[in-house]
Amino acid sequence: MDQGTGGTRGITPLQIMSDGEQPVAAPVGTPVPAPADEQRTDARVVIVGSGPAGLTAAIYAARANLEPIVLGGYEAGGQLMITSEVENFPGFPEGIQGPELMDRMRAQATRFGALVLDVDVERVDFSRRPFRLWAGGVEYTAQTVIVASGASAIWLELESETRLRGRGVSACATCDGFFFRDRKVVVVGGGDSALEEALFLTKYAREVVVVHRRDQFRGSRIMQERALSNPRIRVAWNSQVVEVLGDQQVSGVRLRDTVTGEERVEPTDGVFVAIGHRPNTGVFRDWLDTDPKGYLSVHEETATRIEGVFVAGDVRDHRYRQAITAAGDGCRAAIDAEHWLAEHGLAEPATASAW
Ligand code: NAP
Repeated sequence: MDQGTGGTRGITPLQIMSDGEQPVAAPVGTPVPAPADEQRTDARVVIVGSGPAGLTAAIYAARANLEPIVLGGYEAGGQLMITSEVENFPGFPEGIQGPELMDRMRAQATRFGALVLDVDVERVDFSRRPFRLWAGGVEYTAQTVIVASGASAIWLELESETRLRGRGVSACATCDGFFFRDRKVVVVGGGDSALEEALFLTKYAREVVVVHRRDQFRGSRIMQERALSNPRIRVAWNSQVVEVLGDQQVSGVRLRDTVTGEERVEPTDGVFVAIGHRPNTGVFRDWLDTDPKGYLSVHEETATRIEGVFVAGDVRDHRYRQAITAAGDGCRAAIDAEHWLAEHGLAEPATASAW
């Protein structure tokens, strides 16, 4: 049984192939050079991010003949690259490995003419069109930009936690809870995410221990009431995880009492870290509005306050955070970008029929 999110980062970037050829997986970490005829740096749509939102936007934009460039990030593929089995993405009744799902989305985008590059965007200039983006030392220009840079789970930053990711350590109960049927799990955190994850996990696990570093929760009253009244949930107050125990698989956590400093071992089969997510907004913060939680905010549908700049996926969504909702958002952003281009005479109005 493959337990949990975050196993070996199975990054197998697909080589960008000409029509008809089969994509070939390159070894982990191999930079993927674009073929000479694909060294484009100017596009009507540049998409930042290559998770489900970015690649779905790329599929839609490419099918509308907009030849998008995807600046996908050095760690391409987003959070699904550190997910093992994905069982809730429609169309895969047997489930699919997260990295394979991302490889397929990428192959689908390149098949229709998207150029997907594994480069990090270092800087942008949205002061005028064409917009400018710098990535991997190259300047790209774009009539429209779709920001789909995602969010990253915040981890405890313990060596043992990193080592056991995908071996019982996860940051996604929706993805991995199923693997802990009749097992015992620990959820770390005291906010709504932790309470929600804990409640979700009671569907599978026989016992859920919420480990929180203080003596009261940060989460909403209603979530607290639900969690505290659930007979399968127990709370370890004033407790901090200082080590995840286990060799090949999680076997427990070492907890430190934040008041007395005493340490004890809590045996467990799984550890769900739910201490928040951080949206990847760094290079956009000077240009786009953020909400009080730091996520990018939209003004109308997927449009931002800068005309021609759209956002999609987890970089703006802290509520649903699912691959399927991100993909749906990417589709919406691509349609909005295409309509915007058509309105400004930069795309054929008829291409809207490509949807
Ligand atoms: P959050 O509200 O920031 O809570 C993070 C929790 O993790 C806090 O309890 C914090 O402890 C703890 N924490 C942070 N760093 C830690 C560390 N290094 N070690 C141990 N514990 C640590 O984040 P969230 O729960 O992801 O929620 C984010 C936002 O989304 C919130 O506004 C929330 O209401 C919303 N949300 C809503 C729902 C819902 O309505 N169903 C579901 C999920 C999220 P302290 O309390 O001691 O700081």
